[in-house]
Amino acid sequence: METITLGRVEVGRVRELQGPFAPAGDLVPDAPREHWEELGPDFWQPQDNVAVLALQTWVLRSGGRTILVDTGLGTDRFPMETEPRPDLPGLLAAAGVHPEAVDLVINTHLHGDHVGWNTTDGAPTFPNARYLIPAPDNAKLSGDDLHTKAVAPIIEAGLAEVWEGEFRIDADLVLEAAPGHTPGSAVLRLDSGSDRAVFVGDLLHSPVQLLEPAHNSCFDEDPAGAARSRKTVLARAADENRLVFPAHFGGAGYVALSRRPGGSGRNPATQVEEFVL
Ligand SMILES: [Zn+2]
Repeated sequence: METITLGRVEVGRVRELQGPFAPAGDLVPDAPREHWEELGPDFWQPQDNVAVLALQTWVLRSGGRTILVDTGLGTDRFPMETEPRPDLPGLLAAAGVHPEAVDLVINTHLHGDHVGWNTTDGAPTFPNARYLIPAPDNAKLSGDDLHTKAVAPIIEAGLAEVWEGEFRIDADLVLEAAPGHTPGSAVLRLDSGSDRAVFVGDLLHSPVQLLEPAHNSCFDEDPAGAARSRKTVLARAADENRLVFPAHFGGAGYVALSRRPGGSGRNPATQVEEFVL
């Protein structure tokens, strides 16, 4: 696993899959074609105007603990056709991260592609971990199939920490609410030494949304709230030179943001500046 170090925190990426996902106009309906044309082939296929997505878990080592940001699709939900089906625990183990050694699991929100490997065959995949679960999504989903499979077993095993508003993980990491994509969607801020980053979950589905942060994906449950959270988080990232780690675009993994000419303080258009991981 390739890693980078930010302050005292080591960050690595395990990619469950990456590939063509959906027509660009379906994924981010308001983004004009000329915005897509600014992106490279890791994010958009010009020949058929299809958005390319990734699914990845960030692996953090912080304060002596091993922390996962999101747990992918699991075994029974599969929008992208690849064979063989990915196996996140196997990929993690191959990267030296054994399930028993994971101390903390963060679900940035409770969509199926972020909680899939919370459990395996109904039991916690990471038996020694605490799982951080956003309360608004937990309340909303209670009783539905996804909750029954991927969240309820964690709560029943006594491994869940259901949180709301803001949750400090350690000296360098804090979760904060960024609602809109779902009611409980959260971002993870990293402030360590002189380094800053933010793990944005599904605040972004494509770097095309960096070009105009008001442009929502088709998966945003509350469009106005999602756009508001995206603008706020990206404006702060631009102001503070905060690296942005997305859930769904890979190839590169994280981007630096910078103000573009013409971007206003309230709604800065941003651009991919640097890919490192
Ligand atoms: Zn997602």
